[in-house]
Amino acid sequence: MESTSNEYYNYIGGKWELSSTNEWIDSYNPATGELVGRAPKVSRKETIIAIESANETFQTSDWGMAPKKRYEALLALALKMEENFDELAKLITMEQGKTIKESHLEVTGSIDTLKYFAGAARTVFGRSMQVEPTNLGIVLKEPIGVVGLITPWNWPILLLIRELAPALAAGNAVVIKPASLTPLSSIQIVKYIDEIPHFPKGIVSIVTGSGSEVGETIAQSEKIGMVSLTGDTSTGRNILKSATTNIKKVSLELGGKSPNILFEDADLEKAIPLIGKSIFISAGQICMAGSRLLVHHSIAAEVVNKLKQYAENLVVGNGLSENVDMGPLISDSQIQSVEQFVAIGREQGNIITGGYRLQGSDYDKGNFYAPTIITDLAADCKIIKEEIFGPVLAIQTFSTDEEALELANDSDYGLSAGVWTTNVNRALKFSRRVQAGTVWINTYNKNFPELEFGGYKQSGLGRTRGIDGLNEYCETKHIHFETDF
Ligand code: NAD
Repeated sequence: MESTSNEYYNYIGGKWELSSTNEWIDSYNPATGELVGRAPKVSRKETIIAIESANETFQTSDWGMAPKKRYEALLALALKMEENFDELAKLITMEQGKTIKESHLEVTGSIDTLKYFAGAARTVFGRSMQVEPTNLGIVLKEPIGVVGLITPWNWPILLLIRELAPALAAGNAVVIKPASLTPLSSIQIVKYIDEIPHFPKGIVSIVTGSGSEVGETIAQSEKIGMVSLTGDTSTGRNILKSATTNIKKVSLELGGKSPNILFEDADLEKAIPLIGKSIFISAGQICMAGSRLLVHHSIAAEVVNKLKQYAENLVVGNGLSENVDMGPLISDSQIQSVEQFVAIGREQGNIITGGYRLQGSDYDKGNFYAPTIITDLAADCKIIKEEIFGPVLAIQTFSTDEEALELANDSDYGLSAGVWTTNVNRALKFSRRVQAGTVWINTYNKNFPELEFGGYKQSGLGRTRGIDGLNEYCETKHIHFETDF
């Protein structure tokens, strides 16, 4: 049984399956309200079957011992995605809403990640050490077994591939649980996997259903050796609790409230559009959104004015149109959540631009919100403290470097930060003292598969990408020889 053009099935143990209860998850285009397609809404029962078949394939196939096969499989997947580049990008935009330019970036980044980890599969290095005249130790990196990947809706392909590629490169079997708002694009990736003979049947399964049922079953299963979540910090807490069943490894890529720190000596011509983009890309629905701008008071008026112009020049609309700069929010409830934050901003601060749902003509069919900038908020305001996950920038001012640092670090989150200055000493000093997993100097949103990414504080646990990202998906084994020569 193969998925049809708008009905996407689950892939369990190498077979396409429907839900035993015949329930579905409908996936709607957030720009038009139209149905894009549907995926089965499966339950605990199907999830357990997927986990068991992944476990059996891991035990019985040579996947974990065959790095060259894994390299060939991951490379073939990258090439398959290249062949289907436009189809995939269009599906992401239709299902998630982001602009087609952003979807192109998403597919390009995913392909690059697959190619990097294809190569990395052949360099899963251990080490050996003669520790005493008669004692030789060999340290090996081994696959964990079955890994559960629980993914969000905001960058549905890139954030799946970011974990799938290292998990498979390390030799694991994988059960994927995508977000219920965007199940189709993840299933599309698994369709490509099904067509590639290098992947043993059952090494990758996908189950679509609710977080509370399918996600929790994965996180609690004693047959799962590791669970990876990319999602909200509160979901991360639940996963940590679920993982206690068998003390499984946990990798968490969670929320953020990232600051851009703009000093008076910065190159504003370069900084303004990149700071604007850092918050309005994906309509602010991105973990590393530069949602707080800390600006030196001497340039604040000029910066606020320039960012206002930037925001007001953005074309908001259906992401499939080439001229659109910002797409819709994912759902009506996401808009309502943003509206509640903005209501606080209206009461406690000053709305410089935006602050309303876009209405009229095609806007009425989707979930469109105006790019919004708010100033004059107290440091403990909810808008400064909490992740909004929408196109809302909060601007604060500072007078000294120490004050900027204090404001930047006054957060439960620590995912990323941008530092804007032409003074190299200040850039280095500041970047060492900012509590964030990634600090960009005079740029923002620069990510590469070879460079680690992850959060300080409540933004996560562990690292994705790079060698650390590969090692997250490995166990370490020490084999020891007592020699008599
Ligand atoms: P979410 O936490 O609501 O959902 C993420 C996934 O977890 C979904 O598949 C969901 O079904 C599942 N889930 C929910 N409850 C669960 C439970 N109890 N047990 C197991 N699984 C469960 O997040 P979202 O709304 O899809 O995504 C937005 C959030 O993700 C934001 O906070 C954003 O910052 C974060 N995010 C972080 C990164 C990063 O790299 N740090 C990247 C993208 C998104």
